[in-house]
Amino acid sequence: MPYGIAASHMAGKSATDKIFGAAAAANAAKAKIGKENVVDATIGVLLDNSEKLVILPTVEKVYKSLPMAEIVPYAGIAGMPDFLEMVQVAAFADNKPEAYTKAVSTSGGSGAIHHTIWNYSEVGDTILTHDWYWDPYSVLSDALMRKLDTFSLFDEANKFNIKSFESKVNELLAKQTNLVVILNTPAHNPVGYSLSDTEWDQVLAVLKKAKPEKKITLFVDVAYLDYAGEKNESRAFMKKFGGLPENILVIIGYSMSKGYTVYGMRTGAMIGISSSQDVITEFANVNQYLSRATWSNINRGAQHLLSAIYKDAATQAELEKERASFYKMIAERASLFTAEAKEAKLNMLPYIAGFFLSIPARNPDAVCTRLHADNIFAVPLAKGVRVAVCALPAGKIKGVPTKIAQAMAEA
Ligand code: PLP
Repeated sequence: MPYGIAASHMAGKSATDKIFGAAAAANAAKAKIGKENVVDATIGVLLDNSEKLVILPTVEKVYKSLPMAEIVPYAGIAGMPDFLEMVQVAAFADNKPEAYTKAVSTSGGSGAIHHTIWNYSEVGDTILTHDWYWDPYSVLSDALMRKLDTFSLFDEANKFNIKSFESKVNELLAKQTNLVVILNTPAHNPVGYSLSDTEWDQVLAVLKKAKPEKKITLFVDVAYLDYAGEKNESRAFMKKFGGLPENILVIIGYSMSKGYTVYGMRTGAMIGISSSQDVITEFANVNQYLSRATWSNINRGAQHLLSAIYKDAATQAELEKERASFYKMIAERASLFTAEAKEAKLNMLPYIAGFFLSIPARNPDAVCTRLHADNIFAVPLAKGVRVAVCALPAGKIKGVPTKIAQAMAEA
């Protein structure tokens, strides 16, 4: 290994991001043959049908109206009090569970995952998530000296694989006292799946069977919540988090990145939900403490942005209308893709909503490289190919599923 002086627990580590690699290849092709001739399905942000970055107009208007004195000062370590209240309104809408709840501001959804892993699992423990997952879960687990294990997200019928979930939960609970489970729903990245009401009941039934001395934290990653469908329908599952046993803490990982198109402003929150007042007081304390030790405080302007929108019913309604139109835009793209995939006999995983859809493949790297010859760029994942419908204009979708099917046959 080359000479280095990093501490032993970090020696040799570097983040290799396949997404940036695929995006670089797409950019090189654009420079060579022109943007209009390239299908770039690598980008993880919302682009409109002329491939321009979407900035939600209400977000821009409200943010630009904030006085500098509300943008540049420090925010409290836990977060601005208004934000901590309003972020719960934004996250739950009419589905606040019957439970104690508290929010702590975080550096986006990533920060919420970071705090959850550090504060609710022991060093050396295994974190559990589904086998299709957002790659940083593994980097976060590894950097924080935990392992990551997976259950199969889907069964043979392409429904949530509750048997695999139950068997992994039981296997890990037999070995460790604390268990952090990360579920990314609704509008999962990279598949676009959302757990149904019944599937949620099954998940909670499994966790409720754990012995009371086991400490379970269910982290629900809702990064794509605002593009998951009708506001209250897509949040209805949150009501189920009321009345759970005291050894189960639910944490909603709330991100402003997509829902407000403020990806680089690094703002979000973790919202703790518990039947125990003590668990929620501890939640506020340990997470605030870790924030102090990690990033101090969070972007004040972005916190004000959210509070200003949610304190005013008309502004909130405006923003929701804008999100609804972009939800529709993505849904149209996904249905064009899905319809052609069916004709081309391309085996797509069940897409319901969200920025991405995925196609299982035995050799994803070879498939993506083969697609470069057709000027199509997608992201190779461990188990398949990810297509960013958030960034792919409707006019460029025709022919893409057929070409992916051909590449799968040839690669
Ligand atoms: N969770 C998932 C599944 C994501 O795709 C992302 C962002 O891409 C995040 C969480 C976190 O986003 P951020 O840290 O920008 O809020």
